[in-house]
Amino acid sequence: MSRLFRIAIDGPAASGKSTTAKLLAKKLGFGYIDSGAMYRAVTLKCLEQGVQVTNDAKVKQTANSAQIRFPSLGKVELDGQDVSDAIRTSRIVQNISPIASNPGVRATLANQQRALARANDPAWRGFLFKQSTQVRGVVMDGRDIGTVILPDAELKVFIVADARVRAQRRFDELASKNALGEGETVDAIAKDLAARDEADRTRAVSPLKKAEDAVELDTSDKTIDEQVAAIEQMVYDRL
Ligand code: C5P
Repeated sequence: MSRLFRIAIDGPAASGKSTTAKLLAKKLGFGYIDSGAMYRAVTLKCLEQGVQVTNDAKVKQTANSAQIRFPSLGKVELDGQDVSDAIRTSRIVQNISPIASNPGVRATLANQQRALARANDPAWRGFLFKQSTQVRGVVMDGRDIGTVILPDAELKVFIVADARVRAQRRFDELASKNALGEGETVDAIAKDLAARDEADRTRAVSPLKKAEDAVELDTSDKTIDEQVAAIEQMVYDRL
């Protein structure tokens, strides 16, 4: 017997979604789709091509022409180039909000995200449950996965964490990659995160929102391993 299991993970910026989702996918043998990376890739393409991020029509065109792929776990390709690191800079997040609230961009990326979740890639081996059921699927993280992209996901998790903890995590992550901007501090990052969360929560299309049937997971005092284990247990409980 074989079963499809899709896990939607949503939550504010730097709540630990992506790291958790990636490790969870690895552990379960599932595919991992980082929807935020797609918005980041479109932002990068606009910046590289000198497209004003507030020019909705041009931005939409740019999104339509962007070929975004996830060639392996955690890697992102834009038009055949590896942009895994280039999409993680402060410049990208400072310009992303108008792009993420552009309805044309969201429609294009939503179609691609749903198609990716259906792809049933042979690389997604899945795992054998109770020695009888092969469980295969995907983990997708973002802001609107449980509400808009995969409203019928088998499991929805909404991750939250204290704002200060999130800023410190993001600071440590950037520092470990030598990607901290000139004079960038935890306070400055906290301000950026708060502004981005506010924009994500209040935009008209697909705002950041907990789906009614999502399980809320507060990760403020949890390690990544504990977060992964908590969601893994939710999967087994639902099978
Ligand atoms: O998850 P990440 O921080 O990489 O996402 C970057 C930005 O992309 C978010 O702040 C949000 O504006 C946008 N985004 C979105 N919908 C998603 C995923 C990300 O609007 N599903």
